[in-house]
Amino acid sequence: LLSLRGVRKTYGANVVLDNFDLDVDAGQCVVLIGASGSGKSTLLRCVNLLETVDDGVIELDGEDITDPRADADRIRSGIGIVFQSYNLFPHLSVLDNVTLAPIRVHGVAKAAARAQAMEMLDRVGLADKAAARPDNLSGGQQQRAAIARALVNNPKLMLLDEVTSALDPELVGEVLDLLKALKSDGITMLVCTHEMTFAREVADQICFLDQGRLLESGPPAQVLGEPREPRTQEFLRRIT
Ligand code: ATP
Ligand code: MG
Repeated sequence: LLSLRGVRKTYGANVVLDNFDLDVDAGQCVVLIGASGSGKSTLLRCVNLLETVDDGVIELDGEDITDPRADADRIRSGIGIVFQSYNLFPHLSVLDNVTLAPIRVHGVAKAAARAQAMEMLDRVGLADKAAARPDNLSGGQQQRAAIARALVNNPKLMLLDEVTSALDPELVGEVLDLLKALKSDGITMLVCTHEMTFAREVADQICFLDQGRLLESGPPAQVLGEPREPRTQEFLRRIT
């Protein structure tokens, strides 16, 4: 579904992604791990066309999305993205947060957008909070609302960047459980996380990034259990 070939991204003299290859098959959950600054968020931003790559090709569903003639808005509408900070609009209800893009950007009729949104809120366990303001929700509920908002377009691909790292420890589980449910529903996900338990249980493939390079990748049992590279071993020792 998603393929990166030879992707390079620099900020000035800083090479943030270097000759990066990655494949994500439909229905897979691929987890990116690596030290702070290794390029995980930049990779997600390149896939979502929030950044332009300096070199290489990113294909989504067979389309070269790095082609300057590609329609960025249309491509982005097929990708759901969720960040560490939920970025919900505080002045809107949870329901209106979820319907905003479908109504304003995609021209979905209001009634249909609300019906879709309610379905998504139900899916993330927040149907009873539709009328609430984000401030009145827990962090875990706000993050689940942000996930509902990203899912409402039926994206081909979900990008999730450290979606549990701003949460109190007791709220992390509910969000990870939701991601597991999405994976069971066949949603394709590319996830940056420090949650190794989640990575071990849910990932089809784990990619270890080191200074913008894909140093090692494979199934969790290999990368987490028997890492080949000394730098992967060192990273795992430090975080566990
Ligand atoms: P973390 O685990 O802390 O989230 P990360 O792996 O997501 O780290 P990135 O945010 O992708 O790392 O950053 C990779 C490198 O790119 C860092 O050296 C960072 O300073 C640099 N960088 C990221 N965004 C920009 C930007 N907009 N302008 C200049 N440099 C940037
Ligand atoms: Mg990051």
